[in-house]
Amino acid sequence: MMYMAEESRVDSGRYTTNSQSIQFGPWFISYDVSCILPSVCSTKLVCERDDDQFCQFCIYSKELKIPHFPDMVFPKNVLSLSHNSGAKIVFNPLDALRHVASTVENIEVSCAEAWQESRPDATKLKKAFDWTFSTDYKGTLTDNIVIEATNESIDFEILKKKDQILFYHDLTLFEDELHDHGVSKLSVKIRVMPSYWYVLLRYFLRVDDVLVRSFETRMFHMLNTNYVLREFTAKESKASDLKIPTAHMKEADDVIPLLPVKEKTTQKLVVNIDQTS
Ligand SMILES: [Zn+2]
Repeated sequence: MMYMAEESRVDSGRYTTNSQSIQFGPWFISYDVSCILPSVCSTKLVCERDDDQFCQFCIYSKELKIPHFPDMVFPKNVLSLSHNSGAKIVFNPLDALRHVASTVENIEVSCAEAWQESRPDATKLKKAFDWTFSTDYKGTLTDNIVIEATNESIDFEILKKKDQILFYHDLTLFEDELHDHGVSKLSVKIRVMPSYWYVLLRYFLRVDDVLVRSFETRMFHMLNTNYVLREFTAKESKASDLKIPTAHMKEADDVIPLLPVKEKTTQKLVVNIDQTS
């Protein structure tokens, strides 16, 4: 049985959250949409009290090692897929930002240097952390999901079929315009069809005239199976190696198909039903 539900609620902070959900076989799929992370503590009285209540800004500051957050973080934009066995797959910006390096790798340094040579005004961007917010986050899984190697791959022909879309949403988890020198964005899309659900989590980075990078995680679940296929693809190219003008790189969809693949792995996420019975 499938049904959709819509609700609004106010959490302990000042956040009004809009939720939508659908039941798909044993899966309860829902997303929340809410507003942007404030740039300072919004409830000092609460956060400085000696209990465990904190505003979203203070939670991010405590949990993350990076000294700055993207310009726009949507802390309550969360997609969750809960199986009735207790297994759960969640996509949230806090866990995604935990994967951002708090120390810079060589590639980031050379990238920053190349960038700075062409943009002397951008010196303030060179910091001792990955200022591109690159994250290879692949979703948050509960322990009762077993990750296995597989030779199976997502059947993209099924995805192209024009079935009825039962449920769809595109959520932005965070976005930063790199001080007008490009874009760094993490978003997640969910599509529920009569016979499957499909998720695309996409990190897209464009540092103007320097680098284009994407990390994409696709999840595909066919009705009446006990597993989810998870495909991770990393792509990257120097801007100079792309024979297209920067103006054509604005939309991730236009650029990502042109990028060379650096890494691709597919895994099976098996929902271990036995553990809860
Ligand atoms: Zn606070």
